[in-house]
Amino acid sequence: MYASAILDVFSQRYLDARNQFIGAAETSPIVAKLNGFQHPLKGPKGEKLCCDVAWLGDLQAKQVVILVSGLHGVEGGVGSAIQTDFINRYRRLPQDVCVIVVHALNPWGFASACRNDHEGIDINRNFVDFSASLPEFRAEDLWQKLASSELDIEIVAQDREQFDVLSEGQYSESKALYYGGQQPSWSRQCIEQLAGQLKPETRDSIIVIDIHSGLGPYGYGELISDHPMDSPARDIALNVFGATVTEPVLGTSSSGEKRGLHDYFWHALGDHVCFVTLEFGTFGYQEMLRVLLADQKLQQQVTDWQDDETLEVKHAMQDFFCPDEKQWQELVLFRGRQVIEMALASLTGSGNHVGE
Ligand SMILES: [Zn+2]
Repeated sequence: MYASAILDVFSQRYLDARNQFIGAAETSPIVAKLNGFQHPLKGPKGEKLCCDVAWLGDLQAKQVVILVSGLHGVEGGVGSAIQTDFINRYRRLPQDVCVIVVHALNPWGFASACRNDHEGIDINRNFVDFSASLPEFRAEDLWQKLASSELDIEIVAQDREQFDVLSEGQYSESKALYYGGQQPSWSRQCIEQLAGQLKPETRDSIIVIDIHSGLGPYGYGELISDHPMDSPARDIALNVFGATVTEPVLGTSSSGEKRGLHDYFWHALGDHVCFVTLEFGTFGYQEMLRVLLADQKLQQQVTDWQDDETLEVKHAMQDFFCPDEKQWQELVLFRGRQVIEMALASLTGSGNHVGE
């Protein structure tokens, strides 16, 4: 369907993905600004780590679309491909629209083929109020049994209720999955600074599309809304993206209800801010838990990048979260383009209308 050159935007590796993204941004006639956030650490190959941000179109525009990739590190391959493809394809934007492309929000995780960041934090559980008391770890027993292999992965993967409790987010055990941290993470601070530059109160509408992978059917791009049922922004999500929007609170999503989501930061900025997660499925819950547990175990020690076992675990992570398969990449690219086009059309009145 797509020429293989078009699929070259896919890369499982941070450095290559970043080079492609920067290359596209530097040669685009509509990139008005390229800035970003330098990470304090270096990658496994000694490479510089950065969350790069490209601003396309009119910086003062009243309508804004924000595309985010790599919040979950290793998932960055999919979002990066959609972002670079977008910058390569568009030679102009509708009037009064600015598109902000946030590349590799967790660059350490992307470069290290981890889902978490350098402090073991799951960024998508980190947006909580740390001055308030933190919720208990409801899945602690379940986690201990999983980590010690007392409980079979298959059983948890097939029990949706157990999986949802396990993945809802916890703030007690830094060496366990879905750990939300004890303070705002580096990536969260990037988002807070970005919002400061954006000045949401000066804009009429903002649509954030946060690109992930790992949950749901192979190649399917699910649009997930975690907006409260009675919020105006939920109506915007349904108006803009239609019946493909799923909602964890209704049980229609492959994702369960969660604590500390990235969504919640943007929800709090006003009713004119609509946030959706674009989640691309790969090989299912069971295989996901298998690769994540293996990587979690590996991270208990200092990672030896020369070791064959390390590379095996890391390649399994990359192959799970960004499969190097033409049919998956084609599905992803088609859906990615479609979702961005729906967002842009809604802002310019050529499709569904926002906020009516
Ligand atoms: Zn994710």
